Parts: sequence; structure tokens; C-alpha cells
Amino acid sequence: MGQDTYLHKGLRKRMIEKLADAGISDKRVLEAMNRVPRHLFLGKDSVFDETAYENKAFQIGNGQTISMPFTVAYQTELLEIAKGDKVLEIGTGSGYQAAVLIEMGAKVFSIERQKSLFDKTPTLLRQLGYGSVKTFFGDGFLGLPVFAPFDKIIITAAAPEIPQKLLQQLEEGGQMVIPLEEGEKTIMRRITKTEENNFEEEQFIDCAFVPMLKGKKY
Ligand code: SAH
Repeated sequence: MGQDTYLHKGLRKRMIEKLADAGISDKRVLEAMNRVPRHLFLGKDSVFDETAYENKAFQIGNGQTISMPFTVAYQTELLEIAKGDKVLEIGTGSGYQAAVLIEMGAKVFSIERQKSLFDKTPTLLRQLGYGSVKTFFGDGFLGLPVFAPFDKIIITAAAPEIPQKLLQQLEEGGQMVIPLEEGEKTIMRRITKTEENNFEEEQFIDCAFVPMLKGKKY
């Protein structure tokens, strides 16, 4: 496994400053992201080392991407994580977002539909000290009814519709952050479960994600 050197720490600090300049104001989010060695989530190729801290998305294999740092910061900020929150993530991918949530003090459950990513990512998370993330191979549209309810749900792929099963698995007062496809656009939304069967929706920025797809992929 690669190292987290002073060079990486310096690049990371600069990335954090840029995120703050771009409008991310929650210090806890910035501090959490400052602790996660993003370059180690991009795969083995050291050519990524210097670009890992630019505001870019990267291919992580199987046509999937690790989201841009700004997108991770933005979604994490909208989640308003409190220490001890039980969080369900849809789309484990590289594991980077899950690591940021762990650094925020959350208990993280994460579902991935692609077997190859599900097989690979938990090992990396363990090696980097994020072994407390509970990972599952499955279809995120179904959630994890056995472990529900969740305080927060974060969807890290562009959803064609609001997954009703996930709304059911939210705690009362809980929130779901979801990039929702609307025509040509994908718009970040936050849905708050104010009480059983009662929801409030807020709309935020346009964004870009790989699609949230149904079923498992072997
Ligand atoms: N959170 C990830 C982002 C990865 S990209 C990270 O930090 O790297 C989105 C991921 O969502 C992909 O790995 C994709 O396979 C996965 N995905 C898409 N649809 C899904 C679904 N229905 N259930 C679970 N995972 C899904």
C-alpha cells in the first residue's frame, strides 16, 4: 500500500483551502476530509498521486468513479452528521466517502451493487483504519431493512426516482441526500422525514454522478 507523505498532506491542505473558498463552510467536514488520504483510494498507479487532490473525479474500475472532492464535501455538509449517527450509503465505490463519514464520527453501512468493487474496497478500508464500515453486496434501491432505521441516508449515484424503500428506512427526523435525475439534469436534493409518511424536500445545486442502477452485477 502507498504512503501518506508530507507531500500528500500538503496537497491535501491546499485542497481543503480550495473547498473552503468554494463555499464549504462546515469545519468538521473540512477537518474530516483533511484526515483522509484520498490518493490511496484511487488505485495503485502512483501517477495519480499529485492529481488526487485536484477537484476531479477518477475512474476506479468497472466504469465507476470516485466523486469530485467538492461533491463529497457538499453532500457530507448537507447530511449534517452528528457523532454516532447511523448512516446508510448507497454506492461504496472506492470507499472514500465512507471513510469521510467515519472521520465525522458516523456509524456507516454501505451497499455496493458491483461484486468486484464489493470484493475489493473493504480490504482497503481495513488497511487504512476504516474497518468499522459495514459493507454489503446488494441493490441500494432496497436498502438494508434489517439494520433500519437510519439517521441519515446518502446516495452517491444519480437516482432516476426517489427510492421509496429508503424513505421507509429513515428515522423520524432523519434526512436523505440524493442526486435526483430530472430530465437532462441531476439536482441535489435533501429529503427530511418530519414524521411517519411526511416528508420535506429541499433543492440544491446541479451535479454529475454515475447512474444508480437496479439489481446486482457479478
Ligand atoms: N461513494 C463512492 C462513489 C462511487 S460512484 C466513492 O466515494 O467512491 C457510485 C457507486 O454507486 C458505483 O460504485 C456504483 O456501482 C454504485 N451503485 C450504482 N447503483 C447502485 C445501487 N442500486 N446499489 C448500490 N450501489 C450502486
